Amino acid sequence: MTRIAFLGLGAIGTPMARHLIDPRFELAVWNRTREKAIAFAGSGANVRVAASPLEAAKGAEVVITCLPASPDVEAILDGHGGLAAGLERGSVLVDCTSGDPAASRRIAARLAERGVDFADAPVSGGVIGAERGKLTVMVGGDARVFERVQPVLAAFGEKIVHCGPVGSGHALKAVNNALLAVHIWSAAEGLAALAKAGVKPAIALDVINASSGRSNSSQNLFPERVLTRAFPRTFRLALLDKDIGIAAAVAKEQRVPAPLIALTAELFRAAHNALGEEADHVEAVRYLEQLAQVEIA
Ligand code: NDP
Repeated sequence: MTRIAFLGLGAIGTPMARHLIDPRFELAVWNRTREKAIAFAGSGANVRVAASPLEAAKGAEVVITCLPASPDVEAILDGHGGLAAGLERGSVLVDCTSGDPAASRRIAARLAERGVDFADAPVSGGVIGAERGKLTVMVGGDARVFERVQPVLAAFGEKIVHCGPVGSGHALKAVNNALLAVHIWSAAEGLAALAKAGVKPAIALDVINASSGRSNSSQNLFPERVLTRAFPRTFRLALLDKDIGIAAAVAKEQRVPAPLIALTAELFRAAHNALGEEADHVEAVRYLEQLAQVEIA
């Protein structure tokens, strides 16, 4: 049995960790709000609830973090009960947070001094993909570390790709999510304009989805979440805002002119500020609707 620790039982962490309740693994979990970890452990025998990140990491061969952002990961490394003190020499920290490549490189360098490996391994596929164990996992790190953690990631991932050195998984994830944001916003602008021009959004989407302007947003998000006005809360707007900011920083660091990503970052920051911490990412459409004074329904 591989000894695993999973830290961060949020919207996506919980269904990911559920796949690790498996005879192949011995699982310890930690969550900032302890009640969630206790409720989680109730769903399977052989799950240990750790009192701190340090206690979770003790004895674990693979430690997985899935927190909102890199500063949260860096914060739990240190202090009383901090993760760094619990990580065993020879173990590996796999960060499934959609994080920041520069922070990942810092963490990797720091852990390497103590004989601990690191890989960034953000995921894509949403809560439903996590529930079905069909996430895409993009891994940054040494090929040797990738080979080592792949069987564990396969518990919740279907497509597991080695992207390059430490930080490359996080960079790729940020760019992917910047594209998601561009598609959501541009579809919202276009559909709002069409609605005002007298074209029903359902008809517009039917045509676009049979034409070259289609995207995951037009094919899935708008029909299922916007036209229905359901706006389920699966992935917080605050997290997408963070991801676009990382993508903009990656482009800047690489000296690539990226005005479209920069503008999208600004628009989603404004939507996040207007709609608050708990709004879902697709609710950015509501913000555009307010500006345009039309409902895409
Ligand atoms: P949530 O906001 O639902 O959950 C965040 C988790 O992190 C909770 O367990 C929370 O604990 C914990 N947490 C928050 N702040 C801290 C902190 N400072 N220290 C310790 N623990 C903390 O986020 P998600 O699960 O949705 O997202 C997690 C990561 O996965 C993010 O980077 C996100 O961008 C990424 N992601 C999310 C997807 C989704 O569809 N939701 C899809 C793909 C990637 P507590 O219970 O105490 O609040």
